[in-house]
Amino acid sequence: MFRKNGWTKERVEDKAVIFDFSENYKKFLDDGKTEREVVEISRKLAEENGFVHIENVETLKAGDKVYFINRNKNIVLSVIGEDDILKGINYIVSHIDSPRIDIKANPLYEELDLAYMKTHYYGGIKKYQWATIPLALHGVVILEDGTKVDLTIGECENDPILMIPDLLPHLWGKSQAERKAPEVFLGEELQILVGSMPMYLEECESKELIKTHILEILKSKYGFGEEDFVSAELQLVPAGKARDLGLDRSMVAGYGQDDRICAYTSLKAILDLKATPKRTVVCFLADKEETGSNGSTGLQSNYLEYFTTELILKVKGSFNAFDLQKTLWNSKALSSDVNVAMDPIFKGVHDPMNAAKLNNGIVITKYTGARGKSGTNDADAEFVAEIRNMLNKNDIVWQIGMLGKVDEGGGGTVAMFLAQKGIKTIDVGPALLSMHAPMEISSKLDVYETYRAYLAFYNL
Ligand code: MN
Ligand code: MN
Repeated sequence: MFRKNGWTKERVEDKAVIFDFSENYKKFLDDGKTEREVVEISRKLAEENGFVHIENVETLKAGDKVYFINRNKNIVLSVIGEDDILKGINYIVSHIDSPRIDIKANPLYEELDLAYMKTHYYGGIKKYQWATIPLALHGVVILEDGTKVDLTIGECENDPILMIPDLLPHLWGKSQAERKAPEVFLGEELQILVGSMPMYLEECESKELIKTHILEILKSKYGFGEEDFVSAELQLVPAGKARDLGLDRSMVAGYGQDDRICAYTSLKAILDLKATPKRTVVCFLADKEETGSNGSTGLQSNYLEYFTTELILKVKGSFNAFDLQKTLWNSKALSSDVNVAMDPIFKGVHDPMNAAKLNNGIVITKYTGARGKSGTNDADAEFVAEIRNMLNKNDIVWQIGMLGKVDEGGGGTVAMFLAQKGIKTIDVGPALLSMHAPMEISSKLDVYETYRAYLAFYNL
């Protein structure tokens, strides 16, 4: 069904199934707020569903299910298909990093009787949106001897939260109200209030007794000290759970739906595969998309080639360099990432004839990019037709979408990095409202149709 609101009579009758699907989706959002947490819950789900770590497998045959983990920030699940693997793999690639606020390497200081931590934001955010909301601290601290300390502070009702305070409106006139919106908060002004109570220590020579108190809490409660921040990855994310949105409960409001909406639906689809697929299938949850896919856990690394090589080697028992090139060139990928849903309050930024709407199903995007399609994959028309045919055959609600009017702005996905490897690639994912905000909005119907589309792709 193309470019129509998906709530047909049959789907309204099926509302319980569609709404129910989002219950587990919301739980996934609550449990996985960082890439490391998503890898961990995905690993558990994979093992519960019969997937085995690749290191425990010497050879692979049709029907075998394996997973790979890359530096605790990527997870890849694969089911070996009936066809020769050299005929290509069906990859669904989404990302599990989301915009957030990271703690700096030397963060803690005290001023005017308050203790703060300094931050550097991650990904594209409207910085002012992150002030005065409850934030939770998630992440890891790796001690000098390699011991890992896992942290989650601010998610339980009894936990303290952290917050970026803002200036009161009574006094903002000359200092803040005159600024342009991107500068309402400057990067260096996104600082986290972490304490206000001094520690009384007669023998303490430090004058910074509030900072000292915070360090003492970190040491006694969590087992790390000031220098350990250097080898930590500590991330501030909105505290609290994903919620139903709307009096009709038709939407989900939650943090990190870009792009865990695609991570969850593609993961669920590969876990739910009943029969051995014709082609080998892969669910790849990537990191670093929001900062350009750099680094060894991003899509510009060779990790895709790495695990694909291992799959070929373990299926065929031998390997030559051409096998990998041939497999990649015969492969197909959905770059599964979110698109923008038209916002009636700011509709001027969209071309309504080519933009997506909430509840109109999964979105096909032939090309992304900006300023004359710069930085895009631009899927082959032949491949677009194949995907379109798949969606229509399976009665999936779908639409087309684009990130704003020409010249309005734009953005990219991992599609071009997949295409560079030779894989036929297209952007396919649901649309969101308030993308990159602390709470993003999706439609439960779109979540469900996205799952159905990914299941169809794995069976293609
Ligand atoms: Mn994304
Ligand atoms: Mn994004």
